[in-house]
Amino acid sequence: MAMRVRFAPSPTGHLHVGNARTALFNWLLARGQGGTFILRIEDTDLERSTKASEAKILEDLRWMGLDWDEGVEAGGPMGPYRQSERLDIYRAHAERLIASGHAYYCFCSAEALEAERKAQLIAGLPPKYAGTCLSLSPEAATRRRQAGEAAVIRLRVPAGREVTFHDLVRGPVTFHTAVIGDPVLVRSDGIPAYNYAVVIDDQLMAITHVIRGEDHISNTPRQLLVYEAFGWTPPRFAHLSLVLGPDHAPLSKRHGATSVAEFRAKGYLPEALVNYLALIGWSPRSSRFKVQSPKLETLQTATGDAAVDELLPALELAQRFRLEDVSHSAGVFDDAKLAWVNRHYLKALDSERLVAEALPFLRETSLVTGPPGPAALTWLTTVLPPMAASVDRLSQIPERLRDVFRFEPGAMLADEALATEMSDASARAVVAALADTLATAPRLLDRAAFRAAAAEVKDRTGQKGKALFHPIRVALTGAAQGPELDVIVPAIDTAADLPSREGLAPVQGCRERARACRALLGHS
Ligand code: GLU
Repeated sequence: MAMRVRFAPSPTGHLHVGNARTALFNWLLARGQGGTFILRIEDTDLERSTKASEAKILEDLRWMGLDWDEGVEAGGPMGPYRQSERLDIYRAHAERLIASGHAYYCFCSAEALEAERKAQLIAGLPPKYAGTCLSLSPEAATRRRQAGEAAVIRLRVPAGREVTFHDLVRGPVTFHTAVIGDPVLVRSDGIPAYNYAVVIDDQLMAITHVIRGEDHISNTPRQLLVYEAFGWTPPRFAHLSLVLGPDHAPLSKRHGATSVAEFRAKGYLPEALVNYLALIGWSPRSSRFKVQSPKLETLQTATGDAAVDELLPALELAQRFRLEDVSHSAGVFDDAKLAWVNRHYLKALDSERLVAEALPFLRETSLVTGPPGPAALTWLTTVLPPMAASVDRLSQIPERLRDVFRFEPGAMLADEALATEMSDASARAVVAALADTLATAPRLLDRAAFRAAAAEVKDRTGQKGKALFHPIRVALTGAAQGPELDVIVPAIDTAADLPSREGLAPVQGCRERARACRALLGHS
């Protein structure tokens, strides 16, 4: 039977990275085994489900590249794929269970149930439905319903039984029915309970493998009892361990970013997040077969690390993914490792894609102020790759470009150490010679032009090495440290000549910078 797996988020908030990992493991399995990946929206919690959350979850999944074959928006033969559109299906199936005696109407009021629960707790018993309506005759139930009394539908749980299943990650799991009170399948307003709707959907959508978080493990026996009541063969189950923070508590807000959207906003690339999430609680068995992928080669050549075997594009991960290799112990989310993975993907990115990925961050910091024109795009394509090579995340790129856009020689002189260095006669002489040289030189559009200008300053002043280049750096960038001058100087001068309609924030050229700096320091 062809494999069919599903991711079934409840649209009640953001997509947590733990859930994103669940989605990813389903996707990896489907893509690696030629299966079908289904996206179902479990929105029966009407108070907490929102359309906005659903839209965000879909956007995050798409951003991660986790495309689905069937499901909301994609359609498919076994829809609808949103639970709120399947209420008739749930009700009709529940009536079948009533007819076969596996379920019954229950008229107990919320107050009566609450009183029952309290009494059990006081008596030191685990709270469970006492079975008040279990013995109502079908005729009595029909009469009360016809008289307009509200009723839920409950499953009749067989007494004195063990429910066992073989979890593909955790091995055999057994629960005793003594701990399971007859669960509500459908509420009086027609809304199905999760443990019931999920079974109907997984059955009707022909799901072969249910892969989900281990927080659902105690739900599984209840669901198995529903399969049994219908006489259906259940799918296989795999419960994934939770993702923990460094303190071994479940990853939550107090550990920092937890949602896919937050990691995206922090400047992680989708392929890096995907690759990293796959490695939480799973590791690819090392090269059991030779992988043919130009992308992989670029990625692996961009690294000098031994752990390079772990850097695999999504489809390669899918080919290697086996549920039996998934660990049942909890995985710890490691920010440093995610940053390491992201760095490698940033280095391997082609320059057009890098520009596209960096643009939102450049706009956010107002370094790009409008749609970039062709010359600005060419500029970004040249300037960004060396910058990206030295950052962990896209959001750090604007800071690396700071010296191009911001030139504040006054601020430099406010730094006492720097001011002292620059007031030195030889430093002032270098700045003056630089200003003179650049006054007549064309813009320094490439490395060679910068080298030629520096050589002229050297000839004019007799300075060399640090005594030459340090004052040049300070004069042109306003800072003691920064990217290589060979890179930053052409970046500054190329940007300085771009017309404002190209969409870049204005950049002051090297000639103007040297002149301003000389004026500040006074002539030597
Ligand atoms: N809607 C459930 C959740 O978001 C999914 C449960 C399942 O996969 O069976 O936790």
